[in-house]
Amino acid sequence: MEILRIPRIAQDSCKKHLLRGRTLGFVPTMGALHNGHVSLVKRAKMENDITVVSIFINPLQFGPAEDLDKYPRNIEEDIRKLREEDIDILFLPDNNLIYPQGFSTHIEVAGLSDKLCGKFRPGHFSGVATVVAKFFNLVSPTRAYFGQKDFQQTVIIKKMSKDLNFDTDIIVCPTIRENDGLAMSSRNAYLDSDQRTAARLLYQCLSKASDSVKSGITSGKKIREMMREVLSSEPLISHIDYASVYDPETLEEVDEVTSEALFAVAVRIGSTRLIDNIHLIL
Ligand code: AMP
Repeated sequence: MEILRIPRIAQDSCKKHLLRGRTLGFVPTMGALHNGHVSLVKRAKMENDITVVSIFINPLQFGPAEDLDKYPRNIEEDIRKLREEDIDILFLPDNNLIYPQGFSTHIEVAGLSDKLCGKFRPGHFSGVATVVAKFFNLVSPTRAYFGQKDFQQTVIIKKMSKDLNFDTDIIVCPTIRENDGLAMSSRNAYLDSDQRTAARLLYQCLSKASDSVKSGITSGKKIREMMREVLSSEPLISHIDYASVYDPETLEEVDEVTSEALFAVAVRIGSTRLIDNIHLIL
């Protein structure tokens, strides 16, 4: 596994592989790798000749009051895990090489970035779209792999790629969960044991909503009420940012579920913000 820290060198190395006719699978991450990340890496390895993983905690996608400084970092262990997966290139750039002084270009995917998480994290998706666009230009991946866990991110990246003609297939991979259903997340490390127990409720709430649609309840209002009732039953959930049912393409709340639905929640447990979703296709 090559560890490349200089963007220009990573770009040349990826180009060389592409010129030799190899396909390139790319998995962008912020590190503190868990089995969710590893599932994307395995899939990228399976489907491509060369696998590139990036670890970069992107300051542009954190708000001023968010957890950039305390975001979990575990680079030695991450490198060990990636060596075990036998990937080809780990791209590990420094912040000042990605955003040198004077950097001033930002990508805005209008219409999708201000919904769901975007309402509570202004600027977040612009930060995500900007760094992903930069990394796509550096790596020129044949395919890029993203987790369904961050559903809104996948919708925004797909739209950005289409609008800006990136020649990369966006592959969305299933959410990997703990045994009790909690979606794996680097931020789960913030939870103490009682909070960890309370966090199970996110998936329970989503599953209940999805099951109720399968059993014939299609009213958006009823589903929303039910989801809020489940989450409100847990005192350690200190705030519900959103809990509702959406159109998976437009991310608009729906009044009536028809053929497809996105159930999505974002809550705070103490100072930790957790998100999860279920995408139901009837
Ligand atoms: P992050 O390091 O949190 O930026 O995540 C990097 C990539 O891993 C993103 O595409 C996430 O959606 C994906 N990811 C995070 N958690 C999971 C999970 N539990 N299952 C599948 N993919 C995940």
